[in-house]
Amino acid sequence: MHFIDVDRVVFSYENEDNNNTKVLKELSLSIGKGEFIALLGHNGSGKSTLAKMFNGILLPDTGDVTVCGMNTKNDDTLINIRRKVGLVMQNPDNQLVASIVEEDVAFGPENLGLEPSEIRIRVDEALKAVDMYAYKDHASYKLSGGQKQRVAIAGIIAMQPDCIVLDEPTAMLDPQGRQEVMDTIVKLNKEKNITIILITHYMDEAALANRLVILDNGKILTQGRPDEVFSKVELLKRHKLDVPQAAQLAYRLKSCGFRINKLPLNAEECVEEIAAQLK
Ligand code: ADP
Repeated sequence: MHFIDVDRVVFSYENEDNNNTKVLKELSLSIGKGEFIALLGHNGSGKSTLAKMFNGILLPDTGDVTVCGMNTKNDDTLINIRRKVGLVMQNPDNQLVASIVEEDVAFGPENLGLEPSEIRIRVDEALKAVDMYAYKDHASYKLSGGQKQRVAIAGIIAMQPDCIVLDEPTAMLDPQGRQEVMDTIVKLNKEKNITIILITHYMDEAALANRLVILDNGKILTQGRPDEVFSKVELLKRHKLDVPQAAQLAYRLKSCGFRINKLPLNAEECVEEIAAQLK
């Protein structure tokens, strides 16, 4: 049994505009505990819809989604699934519910009905995990975008989930905020073994994952390690998807006859690869 199993899921939104077109088309995907997956694909390919399947916000029309063997269609276990799988959305302003940082982070554990002493411990730990402990008494609205998003992530961590699904968490942030949030995500995955499912348009963020899953028109186009997937430059271009600049440069050099041993995914790896050629 995998941590999450998506088995032949079909889904359509029931409304006039969408004309009941299938948004997910017999999509299957298995995710192991502790994996860091980046979910990529152009707008409308079904990424956000799939994200909402992981904790039962949306349910498949046909097919099944199971988390630790619990089916999201089963009302009795949905609460357990929601404790295991937390969702972080794009806009941090829509996720902060209280005016003071620590009250915000306490909101989830309070809803779980935990003892105040346990809530205190969880809030402090969660704020430390996202490097926001020093701001616990601060007013949420005064924080930067990156700080707000880290508080939103702390609110999820305080529920002690096994998995966090993040739907374009850095889309509204400046470069510094993006970096802070990505550092936090990588740390949670590496140090706490939290499974990460990250939807992003930024290829440099995707390159940090263990596995890329590329959606196209409600199906998986391709998946694999970042260096495997990003080496399929022609396929990705055909589907109007980006490749990290470092990988693109290496690909062009390769087509001019350079020998590239390992596909570089960032500037440092690219420099190493080129320097090795020039020795
Ligand atoms: P992505 O996250 O890859 O951009 P989405 O899952 O948001 O893709 O959307 C997939 C398709 O479903 C798109 O065609 C979109 O217009 C449609 N869609 C998304 N949300 C809704 C909704 N609430 N009602 C109707 N159609 C929707």
